Amino acid sequence: ANVLIENDKRVDKDRIRMKDKSDHATTENVLDSRIKKKLHKLFERGVLAEINGCISTGKEANVYYAKSKNQDEIAIKIYRTSILTFKNREKYIRGEYRFDHVYSLHNPRKMVKIWAEKEFSNLKRLEQGGIRAPRPLLYGGHMLLMEFLGSDGWASPKLKDAILTESKSRMLYRECIEIMWKMYNKCRLVHADLSEYNILYHNGSVVVIDVSQAVDRDHCNAIEFLRNDCSNITAFFKKHNVGVMSLQALFDFITD
Ligand code: ATP
Ligand code: MN
Repeated sequence: ANVLIENDKRVDKDRIRMKDKSDHATTENVLDSRIKKKLHKLFERGVLAEINGCISTGKEANVYYAKSKNQDEIAIKIYRTSILTFKNREKYIRGEYRFDHVYSLHNPRKMVKIWAEKEFSNLKRLEQGGIRAPRPLLYGGHMLLMEFLGSDGWASPKLKDAILTESKSRMLYRECIEIMWKMYNKCRLVHADLSEYNILYHNGSVVVIDVSQAVDRDHCNAIEFLRNDCSNITAFFKKHNVGVMSLQALFDFITD
């Protein structure tokens, strides 16, 4: 309980300033009272033993580092409930048969709950498809608990920040292609935001993260999203002097 009080103190510092369209500064608190209650329950149930600070504060979510009672490292992702974030994300939910029916434009909190549920279900699909990604643990409200990727409390770097030799880059390029192929053909998913920003370099391999916006293959924009993913991956490895396939060849390889 002490840890949570400590954490409560940190909450005020956790306020971030966002500017809305009319340029009025608005303050948004990620750890609202509902989330705090949920976290409190997880402490009581022994799922969590400590929360040790923030791994990342971004536009769409904050990610916190935590430990379970038996010292397993956990990443807690808490999605922002601000209007700015879900306007951006509507196109990923609309036309997605799994979630379209529950999408309510009138209730921000409900809408953002869907990100957590969607990311959880997508991570499950990745796990079943044998794709390296954080193991999903549980979700509730606009919060998701998953396996922490890193060691001794240090998160593994994003692919964009990894220091790679040319031969390592070639290897990781092949891994990325395999991941995209498996995602499409085994999990029936398109990541839809795949880039060096949403791939971690962990234990010498690439690991996919941030799949809240990933869509089913049947989504009306799936092909457009996949092209974009292919293009990001190609551009990144080209920059690292890997002899990459043409965009079309890559796209055909994944979809044929
Ligand atoms: P943002 O607005 O910051 O882009 P986001 O929705 O993109 O938020 P993620 O990409 O899922 O959120 O996570 C943000 C960052 O937190 C990642 O780039 C990564 O550095 C870190 N992170 C996320 N999940 C994990 C994890 N399971 N283990 C370790 N680090 C993680
Ligand atoms: Mn991200």
